[in-house]
Amino acid sequence: MKAIFDPRQLDHAPEAYFRRGATMPHPEQPRRAILIRDMLAENGFPIEPPRDHGLDPIRAVHDPDYVNFLQDAHARFRADVGEGPLAIPTAHPGPRRGQRPKDIHGQMGWWLTDTSTELTAGTWDAIYWSAQSAIEAATRVAGGERAVYALSRPPGHHAMAAAANGFCFFNNACIAAHHLTQRFGKVALLDIDVHTGNGSLDILWDRNDIFYASLHADPAVYPTFYLGHADETGTGTCRNIVLPLGADQDMVLEALDGALAQIRNFGAEALVVSLGFDMAADDPLAAVQVHADGFAEMARRIAGLGLPLVLVQEGGYLGPSLAVNAQAFLTACRDVL
Ligand SMILES: [Zn+2]
Repeated sequence: MKAIFDPRQLDHAPEAYFRRGATMPHPEQPRRAILIRDMLAENGFPIEPPRDHGLDPIRAVHDPDYVNFLQDAHARFRADVGEGPLAIPTAHPGPRRGQRPKDIHGQMGWWLTDTSTELTAGTWDAIYWSAQSAIEAATRVAGGERAVYALSRPPGHHAMAAAANGFCFFNNACIAAHHLTQRFGKVALLDIDVHTGNGSLDILWDRNDIFYASLHADPAVYPTFYLGHADETGTGTCRNIVLPLGADQDMVLEALDGALAQIRNFGAEALVVSLGFDMAADDPLAAVQVHADGFAEMARRIAGLGLPLVLVQEGGYLGPSLAVNAQAFLTACRDVL
């Protein structure tokens, strides 16, 4: 199984994160990808850079005006305020009535829905190549490779069609899933990040050619709060499988079995996985209790479906076991193929 990664994905370097009223170092650091990349190399996974597939596969999922905004937003912010201040919006539109603003500060509030998507000098390059890695993986699987892992960073599953959210700018997994529909009639997206894939729900809500199943901690009491409840099914092809806070590994595996059964029933011909490792018991954003052997078992069950497989990296933060869990999952997956 090959891995896809471009070093420009390290160029996004957010500093500050606001959580529960406190400022802290931003959890979505380049080091996350460095640790996983080094683990891949040590375990014999070939790592290749993506080709440049251009903006069309990204615009197929995201509002072109949003894509255009991201391309030069950081430069426009710097031109207005100079060096120093963090490029984080401080004014948000609330209900989206009114006109899309022209002013950079108005636009930042319009397109960046929370304070976690700080723009930095390298953000555009990082998110562009993160998306290209996912597109490259999908292109290879559409071309006949059994499984490919995209080390996409920054992550993507909170990014909506026309808004950044929760560390995410481009929804890499949805871009990959949409790309696969050009080759496969029915595609499934399975999301095992501990957070609701609220961006993926936003993008896939009205689609019946992509089945979305997400396992995540209860959004009534855990981010992302506003979406991901069990009764939110879009037009019938979205499934939110809610885990109680503190759920143990057996509960997570049982929930996974339910999601895999539904993917089978849908008749999926290919599978994308939003692969978060923040279900880890020692993740800094921990909400449930999965350990390395649990990640390996999840991989065996997912790969055991026998479908063409695109793995797209999502969350998983700088806890002690990030690389260990990534190794457990990816080597177990490789062993099944
Ligand atoms: Zn997450």
